[in-house]
Amino acid sequence: MMSAMQAVVFKDVGKYEVTTRPIPEIKKADQMLVKVLAASICGTDVHILSDPPGYTATKDIVLGHEFVGEVVEVGSDVRTFKPGDRLICDNNLPCGVCPACKEGHSNVCCNMVAMGVQIDGIFSQYVVIPEHSAVSIPKDLPLERAIFAEPLNCIMGGVKKLKVMPGDTVLVLGGGPIGMYYTTLLKAEGAGTVLVSEISEFRKEYAKKSGADRVINPKTEDLRAVVMELTNGYGADIVVDAVGVLLGDAIACVKPAGQVLLFGLNESVSQTICEADIVKKDLTILGNWIGHDTLSTVGNMLASGNVNFDHLVTHKLPLKDFEIGLEAMRRGEAFEVILYPFDDIR
Ligand SMILES: [Zn+2]
Ligand SMILES: [Zn+2]
Repeated sequence: MMSAMQAVVFKDVGKYEVTTRPIPEIKKADQMLVKVLAASICGTDVHILSDPPGYTATKDIVLGHEFVGEVVEVGSDVRTFKPGDRLICDNNLPCGVCPACKEGHSNVCCNMVAMGVQIDGIFSQYVVIPEHSAVSIPKDLPLERAIFAEPLNCIMGGVKKLKVMPGDTVLVLGGGPIGMYYTTLLKAEGAGTVLVSEISEFRKEYAKKSGADRVINPKTEDLRAVVMELTNGYGADIVVDAVGVLLGDAIACVKPAGQVLLFGLNESVSQTICEADIVKKDLTILGNWIGHDTLSTVGNMLASGNVNFDHLVTHKLPLKDFEIGLEAMRRGEAFEVILYPFDDIR
């Protein structure tokens, strides 16, 4: 096998480099060397590379955390994988021993280390991962379907917390990839009507393909007025903020005693909220941080074919063309950008 590989490395605020790195080696008995078959660019990667950063990452790490891989080599303690197996992976690696982990909340581990954020990620040809981070998937599950596993794992963390009743009206704030995943999954869970709030005309079409019943443009329409009109003046049963700065809109549009799920993340924006609006409406406001024991469920869901996100794949590029994909994401003209580190796998 060759000794160097192609990789996209985070250099400094707003800067990255498509370069070469040594192929990583197994250093612990529970680790596996994995070939990256397909990777995808996440909103988090865009946040990391923004200036100022919307999300903080460590300099000189390999970027990226969403991928489908194939096991090349396993450490001596690996029990559930063998070379040739296909896998999806949770890039967030909890410590297993802190109070949060011991209380069953490993998604908020006090010592969490995330691949592609604090340590080397997967915008490269190979990566070393611990066995516990991965879930195996069938070989006949197309890469273009399995690639959605990591974001869906995070989405599933939120889906698990919401109580969705058949026929519920859900308002999703933000029609980007995250908003589309929630639209599809909450419909699959039984939501009757899904309204999506989104200013981009480009995204509007994708929202409709994802099952949105009505796309509201908050720039040209009064969001709250439209939601009230569509819910007999009562409000949406559930509001999901897929952007991370729209709690005010969520509180205004949700019904009394309704549920608000905060999922989007932007560390560079603060806002003022009047708490009384939450108290007097008796709201349940849920935060959700990443997936939580949900990756197997996601693997089963993707393998079942019950939902698919084929229509969201806007770009298929070789890894070296990372810049093209990143710029399309920045312009809001891309949903799923798939990167292929090997020319013979596309
Ligand atoms: Zn992601
Ligand atoms: Zn922990």
